[in-house]
Amino acid sequence: MKDDKSTVPDIGDFFYSSPDLLSVFGNDGELIQVNPAWYDMLGWDFDELRGVPFANFVHPDDVQATEDEFRIAIRGPDETRRGFINRQRCRDGTYRTISWSSLRKDGWICATGQDVTDRQEIQDKLNQSTAVAEAMFEAAADSIVIIDRDLNIVESSPESERIYGYPERGRRGRTGLNIVHPDDRPIVEAALRRTFEIDEVTTVSFRARHADGHEITLETRGRALRNDDGPPARAVFITRDITAAAQTQAALAENLAKMRAIIDTAVDSITVIDRDGTMIEVSPASEAMYGIPEEDRRGHPVLEFVHYNDQAVLVSAIRRIFDEGEATTARFRVRHEDGHWVTVESRGRALDNGGELPVAAVVITRDISESVALEHALEIARSEAERHDAAKSEFMSRMSHELRTPLNSVIGFSQLLQMETSDPDVLRMLGHINNSGQHLLNLINEILDISRIESGRIIVTLRAVPLDDLVRDCVGIITLQANERDLEVEIGEITEALVRADQQRLRQVLLNLLSNAIKYNRPRGRVTVSTEVIDDVVRLSVSDTGLGISPEMVERLFIPFDRLNIESTGIEGTGLGLALSKNLTEAMGGTLTFDSTPGKGSVFTIQLPIFKGS
Ligand code: ADP
Repeated sequence: MKDDKSTVPDIGDFFYSSPDLLSVFGNDGELIQVNPAWYDMLGWDFDELRGVPFANFVHPDDVQATEDEFRIAIRGPDETRRGFINRQRCRDGTYRTISWSSLRKDGWICATGQDVTDRQEIQDKLNQSTAVAEAMFEAAADSIVIIDRDLNIVESSPESERIYGYPERGRRGRTGLNIVHPDDRPIVEAALRRTFEIDEVTTVSFRARHADGHEITLETRGRALRNDDGPPARAVFITRDITAAAQTQAALAENLAKMRAIIDTAVDSITVIDRDGTMIEVSPASEAMYGIPEEDRRGHPVLEFVHYNDQAVLVSAIRRIFDEGEATTARFRVRHEDGHWVTVESRGRALDNGGELPVAAVVITRDISESVALEHALEIARSEAERHDAAKSEFMSRMSHELRTPLNSVIGFSQLLQMETSDPDVLRMLGHINNSGQHLLNLINEILDISRIESGRIIVTLRAVPLDDLVRDCVGIITLQANERDLEVEIGEITEALVRADQQRLRQVLLNLLSNAIKYNRPRGRVTVSTEVIDDVVRLSVSDTGLGISPEMVERLFIPFDRLNIESTGIEGTGLGLALSKNLTEAMGGTLTFDSTPGKGSVFTIQLPIFKGS
């Protein structure tokens, strides 16, 4: 190979000092010589290159193109070829981009390679950023407009057409100001001009008219396109339609103003607290409530003002508000500036935080000190009354019990004496003793029952009671009393139903109604007992043809001891029967009602559930 050097044309110092890659190939493609730039630029020695396929020193992606170029250079016509670019591998594994030119002459090929790596990188970047800018221009959801110093539109993006409604091309070369609301034109024009003067982004919001005539609100941000020679000739403006946002903001501002008015005028205290219970916002009413100025409470933990014994209640209420998202009410005491405790009731709810954990809650607080004091007084009065009532019932029940024992012996002994004597005067007197004794005993029994009912100690045993038997039995008992008054007692429609009741008590109620129907009847009047079953309810009615009950007496009918001013008539009675009957019927799960036509008569009706098996 060294011998070949003598046949290489003498290219002298120029060949050895060139910073470009110089290489000489034989017409068979064999590498004859390279200059030191191969070492300086790529790190290769001639010895390392010689005899090795050239493709080994080329980027894999460029091998094919390089081989094609090589082939043309060797086989093609004798001429200079320029501009082929590939990437040559350096010894350290990196690549340099080389622009080649080659000359074929007399069977030699001289190839010159210039390092264009840096230039290529710049070009690539430029291409890339141009592509990015174009893509942004096409795809931007906002309008992008480029204007010149005369404020005429040079170019506008496709989206501009949607925002303004004018065909994009139609606006080129014309001013963009004519669609701006006349009142806003001065500020927009000033902003546009300013954009050319300063090296900053300018922003302006304004109203404009859409091509279809409706008003839109826009926000424009602009920046001049700098160039090195002289003042900027163009500026780019990005415009966004903020109509909806502007409307929302206006509505929001209005709502806020309303809210503020409510907070400022509310009689209740309105507070906004955070998760730690710190008061972020306090309404003026709280000052009136606690005597502490708003600003002395704002930013303070709410617990600071709360009675020690009530703090746990409040802590758990705050936890429920924030962690469980429930509207929560709590009652606690707050210290007034003058030292006394104000009892308040607060109701709070967390503010919706769009699915995130709430960070604040609104709490409305009312001073309930007065109603609490009233409640307290009422509670005392009620328990006092209950105590009195219980004592009275206890007294009544004891008294009646104590009275019954001696009375029974009076009646018993008078009956014994009746058997011992046949003297009509003595018998008449004993008869009086006996009757009065019975009367007194009934009265005592009724008082005992009433007091038992009032103290809730009445016991009823509910069983199946055959209705027809009960009616016949009671009518039998009462007939004598009816006959004495020349009255007729008849049994009307009667069912054989079983009623769910306490037999003794139901008997007592029915006898009482029958007795009243006789006592308050007219001479030769009639008393009718009838029953009917409607669904699961038995109705047992006693009707009479007597005086009736006037409307103004209705309310007093079931009041114990109230005889509705009938005392003067001489009709015997205590005024306890109906009160007792009503209470007994209700104790058995039924009702006692009445219907009356003054002067014509009354109907008293017991309703009780039908018996449906045990
Ligand atoms: P008493 O019959 O012992 O007075 P009640 O409690 O049985 O007491 O009745 C209260 C009052 O209702 C009676 O005094 C009477 O004035 C009125 N009253 C009750 N039943 C009838 C009736 N069937 N017709 C008219 N008035 C009646």
